[in-house]
Amino acid sequence: VQNKLDALAANTHHTVNSLLPDYALERAAQVDAKISNGEPIGILEGIPFGIKDVYMLQGTYTTASSKLLQNYKSAYTATAIQKLLDAGAIPVVKENCDSFGHGSSSENTIFGAVNNARNPELVGGGSSGGSAVNVALGYTVFSIGGDTGGSIRQPAGYNGVYGLKPTYGRISRYGLMAYASSTDCVGPIAKSVEDIRLVLNVMSGKDVKDQTSYDATEISKESIQDTKAVKSVGYFKNFIDSEAINPKIKADFLKVVDTLKENHIEVKALDFFDSETLVSTYYTLAMAETASNLSRLDGTNYGNRIEAESLKESYAVTRSENFSEESKRRIVGGNQVLSQGFSDAIYLKGLALRDAIANNFEEDFKAVDIILSPVTPNTPPKIGDSLKDPLAMYLSDAYTVGFSLGQLPTLTVPQGPETGLQITAAKTKDTLVLQFANTLK
Ligand code: GLN
Repeated sequence: VQNKLDALAANTHHTVNSLLPDYALERAAQVDAKISNGEPIGILEGIPFGIKDVYMLQGTYTTASSKLLQNYKSAYTATAIQKLLDAGAIPVVKENCDSFGHGSSSENTIFGAVNNARNPELVGGGSSGGSAVNVALGYTVFSIGGDTGGSIRQPAGYNGVYGLKPTYGRISRYGLMAYASSTDCVGPIAKSVEDIRLVLNVMSGKDVKDQTSYDATEISKESIQDTKAVKSVGYFKNFIDSEAINPKIKADFLKVVDTLKENHIEVKALDFFDSETLVSTYYTLAMAETASNLSRLDGTNYGNRIEAESLKESYAVTRSENFSEESKRRIVGGNQVLSQGFSDAIYLKGLALRDAIANNFEEDFKAVDIILSPVTPNTPPKIGDSLKDPLAMYLSDAYTVGFSLGQLPTLTVPQGPETGLQITAAKTKDTLVLQFANTLK
């Protein structure tokens, strides 16, 4: 634990928002005592891990990488984090990310842009960039990210590690700062499928504090060794034939498809919605939900309040001064699509498209066990580049957001230096995703 804390303190990749030395060392001493007394130990006993800075851990700073909550300390602990503590794991760091999860590069943060683990001139990816880079560089054994539209999978792909977005509801969202509640998911980033399985099992299950959570059966070590479970795999033709895809990513993906065929797995090319439809549906709903979720941050109950002549003025100044450009763009956009005169044409259309996307997945999974895709059409951009063009950044999410709208379980497995491979199964079939990841190895 001390070694990890020292390495994190010295790291130059901007992965750290705050370190938890007192907390971690006290728990480490408790573990030592347990072991020397011969007491039973938990499944993750003594393992140092990182937490994206959007999860509550009582008494520690939870800033969401924002100026608004720069001095905010959690009043309680998130359910998923509490379960990890109960299993013996030791949190060492709150990790840098895009503010409130708004972004795909971990540049939208007051703590400095996160540098890519392989090449520090490139972005770490986002929004859970600090978490993926910490795992890749060995600063944490695993980290807990958050994924609303790709924020675990994309940085995992950019940094060459595994990252799982489980089925929506498999892990309680209680204590995760809400971005877009209908697709927000808690998930692990780690260096192996087996570590993902262990951490997933610990965090899963119904929680009375999150009515969308459900009880999931534990995934056994043996079950994910069944490399014959997957018989058919589909991929979206339009993703791979798109003009926007990097040629190397396309070539690598088609090689994987050939290998599957050689191994007698049936491969089917499927039709899907185009990138523009997926991205605009996702951003319409995500902006609407974030405008609503973040309306509570007016400086009254928490956050850096700025006083003004009137209460209304104080709300306005507090929010204008403390939200980032990107967060303000989303709040304004979200309020617009929800407002009278626009909501029928935009928001309701977004909801209808989401249903159509979900139905499309249901049909697909009658024909195939797994859908395979690159995580992104592009390689990680240089730091500074994506901030110049927000629309291009939104479009780079084209391959991840559809699976979020479908609330499906989906895993990034590392592949080459460009991006990762994304393995997706039908709702609640998280086991199948891990089985197929082992088949690919
Ligand atoms: N890049 C996407 C967005 O900005 C996804 C972010 C996330 O999953 N938190 O909305």
